[in-house]
Amino acid sequence: MTALTEAIDTLVTGNRILARENVVDAFGHISMRHPDDPSRYFLACSRSPELVEADDILEFALDSKCIDDRGKTLYIERPIHGSLYQARPEIMSVIHNHSTAVIPFGVSKTPLRPIVHVAARIGHEVPVWDIYDNFGDTDILVSTNDQGQDLARAMGNGPVILMRGHGATVAGLSVQDAVMTAVYLQVNAQLQMDALRLGEVTYLHPGEVDIRLARSQKFVGNDRAWEYMSRRAGR
Ligand code: MN
Repeated sequence: MTALTEAIDTLVTGNRILARENVVDAFGHISMRHPDDPSRYFLACSRSPELVEADDILEFALDSKCIDDRGKTLYIERPIHGSLYQARPEIMSVIHNHSTAVIPFGVSKTPLRPIVHVAARIGHEVPVWDIYDNFGDTDILVSTNDQGQDLARAMGNGPVILMRGHGATVAGLSVQDAVMTAVYLQVNAQLQMDALRLGEVTYLHPGEVDIRLARSQKFVGNDRAWEYMSRRAGR
């Protein structure tokens, strides 16, 4: 396998893990910046992540125009990916999903905050972007570069943003990093909803989140979790 073939294989695995962990269903997608050309990224054609194969992966410029679509249909919301790669040179992978667990936190006044150690990677408090604020009535989908850039601005330097009435977007320093964040974002949302039913909640303290964030990239458990989730996803 060449390095590029191996990278695309990792992207396919990322698709399968997100499907296996129910972070995505028929909809949702994960992309990866081209490892050798920062002005390009890879994303599947319009197909559900559980079914994505290496042959479905297409190459895009950062304005989200496809280099060669080979006659395949494209995801409408690819500006989410291109705009984030354009805004943030450090980002190597982007995930967009409609995880049902996070929706309540995007439409209410209760912020999504880390409640369990493995979810500290979502950051101190997850911001919410509302497409209505700058674009009024739309079909809610991020279908233009203007909308993608507005989303990227709202996300700032953070790893996650919720999208009101829609879902979430996650940015990572690698495919593995983005996948872990998306999986534990969903876990945290489920647990936070459960805990809130019991009354007052003790969240992770800010200093605890900082300590976890500082080590999250080199944490030995990352490889273990990736191997485990890949196996569960049949990879
Ligand atoms: Mn969407």
